[in-house]
Amino acid sequence: MSVTVRVPAKVNVQLGVGAARPDGFHPLATVFLAVSLFDEVTATPAAEPTVTCEGPDADQVPLDRSNLAARAAEALAARAGIEPAVHLHIAKNIPVAGGMAGGSADGAAALLACDTLWGLDTPRTELLAICAELGSDVPFSLLGGAALGTGRGELLTPVDAGSFHWVFAVADGGLSTPAVFREFDRLTAGASVPEPEPSPELLAALASGDPDRLAPALSNGLQAASLSLRPRLADTFAAGLGAGALAALVSGSGPTTAFLVRDEEGAAKVAAALEASGTCRTTRTASGPVPGATVLSA
Ligand code: ATP
Repeated sequence: MSVTVRVPAKVNVQLGVGAARPDGFHPLATVFLAVSLFDEVTATPAAEPTVTCEGPDADQVPLDRSNLAARAAEALAARAGIEPAVHLHIAKNIPVAGGMAGGSADGAAALLACDTLWGLDTPRTELLAICAELGSDVPFSLLGGAALGTGRGELLTPVDAGSFHWVFAVADGGLSTPAVFREFDRLTAGASVPEPEPSPELLAALASGDPDRLAPALSNGLQAASLSLRPRLADTFAAGLGAGALAALVSGSGPTTAFLVRDEEGAAKVAAALEASGTCRTTRTASGPVPGATVLSA
């Protein structure tokens, strides 16, 4: 018997970042949107814990115990007092180290897959607590939809959202999230960084489902830091906007860039122009919100 869970990527339609706290973490006010770009994690009983991965970026995914899927299985097994005797296979479609929470998605998917495989029926609130221990973005991968994240991004409140169309431009090579936060610290040193607050304009635009209203409300406090580390992302922005995208922003810590478009037709046009421009490695089109980690087959 095996259990397969499908899990979405995310884009932060608002990413408000405050000054680093003494423990090094940055307070966030962020609005996550789950988009229709999915990884699938399959859990199968095995003599010992193992991880395999397939997909275009599979060679960049660690297969040892540092893999977030393996860490999720271990955390759940420890809580249940059992051995994490499971093989986890990741079918990876979410860009790696791209600011789309691919590792976090696999962690949430593995947690749900193992919970189902082992018949634990762990309450949702406890699964979310385990997710928060694994990483700031992991709880949202379980929840999906659209949600406001505060604290380090792990304290979630679902919010209303209409459906929106996106094009993602995947860059060559990833960016390390801690490195982007360090660059944020360097760029804001000496400046007074306000406490991050959810944007009422953004939340209203998201609920309205109107892309023309959402476009000017999108914001990412890490964007200057990502662009500072990857100045050529400005060329990607120009290519997508030149092809009619309503707005462009760096996805999370980058270097994936997200383009808001009006409809599927607009998405195809922007994706084609981005591919032809040579300013990105590849593109993906998606829409969201979509549900979080979901059991496909058990
Ligand atoms: P976030 O948006 O949450 O900051 P990200 O999308 O930028 O994350 P990930 O794809 O999660 O980045 O990968 C970050 C690093 O995590 C990778 O370089 C890799 O070494 C490690 N990692 C651990 N587990 C996984 C996994 N299952 N899939 C991908 N990367 C993983």
